[in-house]
Amino acid sequence: MSGGLSSVSFPKNAHAALANPPLLKAIAHIEETLVSGRRRAIDALPEFEALRDAGRDIKAHTLKHLDLYLEAFEKKVLEAGGFVHWAADAAEASRIVLDICQAAGARQVTKGKSMITEEVGLNAFLEANGITPVETDLGEYIIQLRAETPSHIIAPAVHVNKEQVAADFRRVHTNLDPRRNLDEPTSLLSEARGVLRERFLAADVGITGANFLIAETGSTVIVTNEGNGDLTQILPKTHIVLASIEKVVPTLEDVATIMRLLARSATGQEMSVYTTFSTGPRRAGDPDGPEAFHVVLLDNGRSAMLGTEFEDMLRCIRCGACINHCPVYRSIGGHAYGSVYPGPMGSVLTPSLHGLEKSAHLANASTLCGRCESVCPMRIPLPKMLRHWREKEFERHLTPKKARYGLAAWRFLATRPRLYGMVTRFAAWGFARFAGKKGALSQVPLAGGWTRWRDLPAPEGGTFRTEWAKRGRK
Ligand code: SF4
Repeated sequence: MSGGLSSVSFPKNAHAALANPPLLKAIAHIEETLVSGRRRAIDALPEFEALRDAGRDIKAHTLKHLDLYLEAFEKKVLEAGGFVHWAADAAEASRIVLDICQAAGARQVTKGKSMITEEVGLNAFLEANGITPVETDLGEYIIQLRAETPSHIIAPAVHVNKEQVAADFRRVHTNLDPRRNLDEPTSLLSEARGVLRERFLAADVGITGANFLIAETGSTVIVTNEGNGDLTQILPKTHIVLASIEKVVPTLEDVATIMRLLARSATGQEMSVYTTFSTGPRRAGDPDGPEAFHVVLLDNGRSAMLGTEFEDMLRCIRCGACINHCPVYRSIGGHAYGSVYPGPMGSVLTPSLHGLEKSAHLANASTLCGRCESVCPMRIPLPKMLRHWREKEFERHLTPKKARYGLAAWRFLATRPRLYGMVTRFAAWGFARFAGKKGALSQVPLAGGWTRWRDLPAPEGGTFRTEWAKRGRK
């Protein structure tokens, strides 16, 4: 079981998104908020490039010795009085969390923002077993009210505008005074905060994810901007951390290095507002904290990525920068990808986690412009990995027939240079002739996908080869 995957419908989803003006307007804000914020933060930090190298090296080293660091982490959690559970897949992780909740007699649980709980589809599983999960991150809370999935890994409700949020609050918050003004984001925040305070106090178990797991100390780390993570893990008697195995890093110092990259790349902040370290349950003399502390370590296909051409993807710290700078994401938003992980990082990760057969389209949801790699704080070669997936898609005959025949025809010509030269010269002449004075064609055989939306400019002058040959002669 996993968070509902519909990546096979990517082309249909993308068309629907392109015809959704409110969605496109909402996504457009990413430029003036996240993209500009990142640019300003990085311009103000001269050592940013050196930090990228250091972050990449820390994660690459950890992945080479992942088993050792995970065992060291487990040992430290146990020493601190906590428990560690190993989950091979999404179903096992959900079952472990449910068992802990049932043992604690839980009826209601609060949740901090966690993409891993989205990945395993935890909310639906808990609800099916009589436990009510309450999302406490504002964005996650909004999409929970709307019965939607996140459309971005750090801004889950980026696709929703404030009028829609106000309408959702009026629909669901039964005690809300109809005269209350909800026109401003601050009034929406205050309304959500009032409702969530009660939920925090009523929760039997708090569930969070983790940005980092520290092998040296057995600590888990979360960063938030709302403080909801702290209330989620401190107030209930039981705290469960559900995290994937690649979140482990060796030392506290390593966390300090990578944190300097994380918030700057994500939101343009120097640091997130709250950074919370948790080490075991409450100790004698502690003023607060949970009585029981559990860490569930999820694999779900990650160890199979080690040693493959996709291992580098496990360096990802989920900052979202590649998503914010992707021209495809910026044109269609996150839901079109049909996976909890959208954008370039999702198009690499989703086939690794769920299989290429269920997500083959995603490798093609990219122009390969390279912006994602250029902004990735962990220097993950996303375009190279997308090309690997395209190769595998072709090898496994998952590419649509039209594309396969087209590529086969191109290969036939490309391996016969003289014939290739003749055909391209003839095609250039033909296009220019049929285009006439307009200089563009509104219909071209086999290129309907292009000409349905815009004209195809006719070539001017000769082919690339003839122009190249002319220059060579000069
Ligand atoms: S792939 Fe890189 S840029 Fe994208 S979310 Fe991960 S760390 Fe951030």
